[in-house]
Formats: sequence, C-alpha cells, structure tokens
Amino acid sequence: MQTDRPRSFEFILDILFPEHCPGCDIVVDKGRCMCSECEKQLEYLEDLPWQSFFEDEINGRKVSFDIATALFYYTGTAAAAVKSFKFRRCLPFADYAAERMAIKLENDITERIDIVTSVPMNIVNRNHRGYDQAELFAVKLADRIGKDYDPTLLGHRFRYISQHKRSAKSRNRSADTTYYIKDASKRLDGKNILICDDVFTTGSTLNACARLLKQMGAERVFAAAICLRAKK
Ligand SMILES: [Zn+2]
Repeated sequence: MQTDRPRSFEFILDILFPEHCPGCDIVVDKGRCMCSECEKQLEYLEDLPWQSFFEDEINGRKVSFDIATALFYYTGTAAAAVKSFKFRRCLPFADYAAERMAIKLENDITERIDIVTSVPMNIVNRNHRGYDQAELFAVKLADRIGKDYDPTLLGHRFRYISQHKRSAKSRNRSADTTYYIKDASKRLDGKNILICDDVFTTGSTLNACARLLKQMGAERVFAAAICLRAKK
C-alpha cells in the first residue's frame, strides 16, 4: 500500500494543478510542456548567428563576449511562452528551452565550455518572484550539456527602475554599474564561460556581464538566450 501512496498523491496533484502550455495556456499532458499548435508557431533562429545579430559595438562599448546565440525570435508564441515562464511560473519551459539549446550549441561549442552561469537577478525581484528564470534555464542547460553551473560569479544591485523600462543608452549606462563581481578574489583564468539569459534585447546587460567575467580572467565568454528581441 505504501508504494501506491506517492503515485496516488501525484495523480491528485496532476488533477489539481495540471500543466499549462506556456504559449496559449491550454492544459497539456504531463511532461509535454508546450501544445503542438504553439510548437508549430515558434519562430526559430535557424542558423547559429552568434555575435552577428549584435553590432561590433553595443551603444559605443566594445563587445566583450565572444559569441552569442538565441533559440527563438521574441515574437508571438515564443514571447508569450517566455512571459509565462517569467511571470506565471510556467517552469517546465526552462527545460524545454534548455533541451533545444543543448542541441543548438553542438558538440564543438559544448566541449569548449568550462562553467555555466547566468545573468543575475536582483534579490528584491528574485524574492518577489520566488525564482530567477535565467538561472533556471542555465541550470537545466548545464545539466543537459554535462557542465557545472556556478551562481557565485556575478551579482545584481537593486535599482528602482528595471532595465527593460530604460532607453538603450540608459540601459548601457545602468548595466555598467548594476552588475558586479561577487568575490574579488575569485579567478576564471583560462576558463570558457557560458552565460545564459532569458531574452537578449540590446545586448547591454550581456555585454556588461561579459566584461566582468573577462576582468575575472575568463578566456572566452559564450552567451545563450531563449529569445532574441531584435529586428530581422
Ligand atoms: Zn499552446
């Protein structure tokens, strides 16, 4: 009887708290994450564009990351899914995106990665939300490519105006002082770091974080986001 209890409990939980598609909110089978209609509408970045979707300079700052990639354009279903992941606890989407990113990174890039980290969220927002979506994505991705996730590298100072409400120029200025190295004695000499985020917008945040990782001695900084918010 005892062995049946967890299964019954899970069954009840599934009925009380079914999984919803992050794209359209319909109930999906457990473990399915996204419904097939939404999957068809996802707009993939087909190639491996890396840095090419950003300029050589981002708002006048030299680009500090070596390569960057994203899975989807931030449009339609993908944008809806990221919002559900970010604001409505559609947490299975973290692994859904990580599984696809692990395939996209391909072995030659994956083999060069030493440590996976993520663009940090400030503690106030994190406590309010209860999780950090970039971290969840990074943890799942690290697991899928068999690398260590390190949350101890960078921190994020709390600001009253969030980054996504700022102009591009203001974002750049803000990003320079918002992020910081958590432990000044920690070195990353010779290491290749993969930093993850949920959405790339102007690249200012990513660039500020990459600059700090290079200051810590990182040899190369690769970057991966679920979505790219950019003109095609
Ligand atoms: Zn759907």
